[in-house]
Amino acid sequence: MTTVLVIGGGIAGYCAALAARRDGAEVTVVARAPGATALYAGGMEIIDDVESILRQENHPLARLGIDAVGLAAELDMAVSTLLLALGKEGLKFQGSWRSRGLYADIHGIARPANVVPETVAAGELGALSGKRVAVIGVPEVGDYDAGSTALALKELHGVDAFAEDVSIPDLPTAAALTDLYGRRAPAPHARGAAIAYPPGFTNLPDDGFELLASPPSPHGWRLQQAIGLGAVRGEITSFETGRARITAARSADRSFRADAFVLATGRHIGGGLQAGRTTTEPLLGLGVFYEGRSADSLGTRLHHLTYIDPSEEMRAGLMTDRRLHPLHADGSSAYSNLYAAGAVLGGYDYAGPCGFGVPILTGWLAGRYAARQTA
Ligand SMILES: Cc1cc2nc3c(=O)[nH]c(=O)nc-3n(C[C@H](O)[C@H](O)[C@H](O)COP(=O)(O)OP(=O)(O)OC[C@H]3O[C@@H](n4cnc5c(N)ncnc54)[C@H](O)[C@@H]3O)c2cc1C
Repeated sequence: MTTVLVIGGGIAGYCAALAARRDGAEVTVVARAPGATALYAGGMEIIDDVESILRQENHPLARLGIDAVGLAAELDMAVSTLLLALGKEGLKFQGSWRSRGLYADIHGIARPANVVPETVAAGELGALSGKRVAVIGVPEVGDYDAGSTALALKELHGVDAFAEDVSIPDLPTAAALTDLYGRRAPAPHARGAAIAYPPGFTNLPDDGFELLASPPSPHGWRLQQAIGLGAVRGEITSFETGRARITAARSADRSFRADAFVLATGRHIGGGLQAGRTTTEPLLGLGVFYEGRSADSLGTRLHHLTYIDPSEEMRAGLMTDRRLHPLHADGSSAYSNLYAAGAVLGGYDYAGPCGFGVPILTGWLAGRYAARQTA
């Protein structure tokens, strides 16, 4: 049986583990801490326009060398397997990578998403048209104002929204949104209206839904808890290598031997990339690329982009060949049994329309390629 070590406990590592196990591999996931997955707002942006992605030569999905029909088939399989697995952990989702909706966050700002938690789905802005919407406020909570959210829903999206305050007297002094997490949803007085709750409550009424979050996010925390159950807590600090292969990954107190390795260490928040004068990959010194060129060769230009346009700098990351082997700075393939997946990859905007799509699909394929690795 092929053994696979997945490094990273975010959505990319989880999808890699799902795919590798499905292909019969024995999988260990090692993760140091929650990463960006634990911060996601609550709407999975998977993909918008497949054809336009395939025209971007440095986009990690275009680099897979799979045509639009093939990508669609892989996405069908990856997303349905992921949602099935999350459902078994008690987290139910709605939507598909083929459909897209708009959902309001706690400030009333609309965000697009393909797949959302079941508790968010009824808040799709199109579906709220013609309905009255009560936005629940909690006067004891200082970092959220239901009145402003209702106003934004009305003025920005034409939703017939109004705020209703419901007091929760046993909250701590100077309570924050995080203090609502895990509490039973309070019932409003308003009747006949859909009810928008700040995220985090449990036991929503039938006509209730959760707004999307800003960090820290209850949606992200629930997802992170569901996907983190089987992971070994630890930090990989070095590797043993030989003849262009990795033989083991080491943490402070353990050595993990495996036939294949998946690097799903995330971007700056996860710890997969290190910001500095130039951005680097801290574990193996793999090449970091910006628009197809090695970040080394760009000198301080890349660093300055952090100030000029942070989203540009955030497109830097690892580059892979068609089988998701990460490349050295000179463009050569680094190790024959190493695969990279998720936000550690560059060439796309990870706050954009593939925020979850790249981690899900590259994780899924990296896990499959790793499981088929011959010793
Ligand atoms: C604030 C915020 C909000 C976002 N909201 C959305 C959204 O609403 N919708 C959307 O589609 N996308 C969103 N994104 C983007 C999306 O969350 C990320 O692209 C995605 O979660 C990345 O997943 P990942 O598994 O690649 O990385 P991460 O989730 O960052 O996971 C990386 C993992 O690697 C581990 N790791 C790193 N180095 C080591 C090591 N040496 N040893 C062991 N483990 C290690 C980390 O501890 C972590 O477990 C958001 C991003 C941010 C930052």
